Amino acid sequence: MVTVSNVGSYDATKQENKREEVREELSGWSAILFVDKMHLTGTVDNKSFNGLGVNLAFPVDDFKQDMDITISLKAHNNQLTLQGTVRWVKTVDDSTELGIQLIDHVNLSPSTHQLDVTKISIDPTCALKIPAQIALRRHFLPFVEFNGSVHLACADTSNQMALKAVERMVKAPVIPWTVDPDALKTILNDVYGDVVTTAPQTAVKKITAQDDGEEATQAGEELLYAAYLRGASDIHLDPGYKNSRIRFRVDGQLEMYKELSNSLYHELSSRLKVMAGLDISERRMPQDGRFSHQFVEGGRRIDVRVATLPTKYGERITMRLLAVQTDSLTLDKLGFEPDGKLLVENFLTRIQGMMILTGPTGSGKTTTLYASIRLLLEERSVNIITIEDPIEYEIDSIAQCEVDSASKVTFASALRSILRHDPDVVMIGEIRDKETADIAIKASLTGHMVLGTLHTNSAAATITRLIDMGVEPYMVAAALRLVVAQRLLRRLCSACKIPRPLSEKEAFTLLNPKLAGRTVYEPSGCIYCSGKGYSGRIGLYEMLSISTEWARDIAEGMGEGELLAKMKEAEIHSLLENAIKKLLDGDTSVFEVIQIASSW
Ligand SMILES: [Zn+2]
Repeated sequence: MVTVSNVGSYDATKQENKREEVREELSGWSAILFVDKMHLTGTVDNKSFNGLGVNLAFPVDDFKQDMDITISLKAHNNQLTLQGTVRWVKTVDDSTELGIQLIDHVNLSPSTHQLDVTKISIDPTCALKIPAQIALRRHFLPFVEFNGSVHLACADTSNQMALKAVERMVKAPVIPWTVDPDALKTILNDVYGDVVTTAPQTAVKKITAQDDGEEATQAGEELLYAAYLRGASDIHLDPGYKNSRIRFRVDGQLEMYKELSNSLYHELSSRLKVMAGLDISERRMPQDGRFSHQFVEGGRRIDVRVATLPTKYGERITMRLLAVQTDSLTLDKLGFEPDGKLLVENFLTRIQGMMILTGPTGSGKTTTLYASIRLLLEERSVNIITIEDPIEYEIDSIAQCEVDSASKVTFASALRSILRHDPDVVMIGEIRDKETADIAIKASLTGHMVLGTLHTNSAAATITRLIDMGVEPYMVAAALRLVVAQRLLRRLCSACKIPRPLSEKEAFTLLNPKLAGRTVYEPSGCIYCSGKGYSGRIGLYEMLSISTEWARDIAEGMGEGELLAKMKEAEIHSLLENAIKKLLDGDTSVFEVIQIASSW
């Protein structure tokens, strides 16, 4: 089967060989050609390494020879966007045939490009294929496997013997990229440091399967380490009929990590259940537990929440990775616009009042909350106490308390106790009920700064939700000072994104017909983003700062519709408007914005 990536310009060293390849006939492939405000869909008749034959089932006279064009290819759940030049156009009967020469728009080749090793995304399965000792001694980092070749970041590409040795270890041809030696050293220590000092057996030693227990222990260790390296938020383990699969959720998207035999899966799931303190003999009831895992003494640690669910072929396990250190989280990095950041900064200079972050699960509101706390700690010496469910990140010098239904610590009961500990700032993971909302509001009116999250879709809905919970409108008006509604979108890889015009239909979907024809960007794929076209995520924000005038309207019981109209009048950017700004700035793609827009 042809994969989409075969068409791309990714693998520059193999360029010469591929040019010699014969044209392949393709089936089930479609191509979208972006021409002005129109998007024309046709079928791909054939392709070679640097060319495509596309057939449109209608006559078109927009194409001219030597015209540059953006093309999206779609097949088998894959999409890849490329740039090309129209070489010939033929109109036969009522259809149009095009010959398109593909352009290597990224044009990154190991022989000419010094890779910025700090910007690559590292695939842990690839990195852990070579022993840590060798990686650290030779300064080698295999970081992604693509089209059957393993890409290797190294300081010196001239040592052929050493490269051959790596090829034997990874069992694939190696493509070496030159990188800055100092930057590489830092990353190598990050990736392999732990493996060497504490667990020389875990990720490095090949699993020999002599002892089932040992094998499962190693598999568990390797799984957690790989998830940590990949920056995964969740690990999903699904037993299947023949094999079991393990997937990671990274930046909100599920990606395949590994397939396991069902017998090893069985051992591994028991091992994970033991770690989480669950009953391993119980396989017919859902269970949940947690554990803390230390990769190196005094060093990095992750907290893991584990839930099991009996399914047709065995127990499914979902693990949530928590309590990761967050030194690098700042509001700028999260995608705040300068004026939005200023609103948060202004709020943080207050003595009392309430800020609420709102959005569905996975919208990054907790992350923003932590970034705000970090900012606050830089500016002032304050006593901060949090109540969370669960503690997702750890911050030094603040007291973090976890809700635990088993031991009867609820948001409301914990909040009441916390107020006796003389806090300046209280953070409430989630305001779920009237009792919590009431105490939070009273606290914010009696000399405390209160930060919290709510589960609503917009800033206006936050106000009506608090009132629906039973809080008096005048109390909401008196306490609430800033509401931030938030979403996360995938960020386009800046090295390989491709410009194309927005169609009339898309502009209509985005409720902005005037935008048709404006330049937006499509994800493509390059060495920096492992061919995914996206790298990391960016936040969208809708920010409502409650002034005296707003407070008066809220106290008088203004409904959600009126609040929305008033926000529009005050030219407060909605989430969609912010999404469109980020789309036109080239930070994200139409696909991401439309997907998010449809959920409002
Ligand atoms: Zn890229």
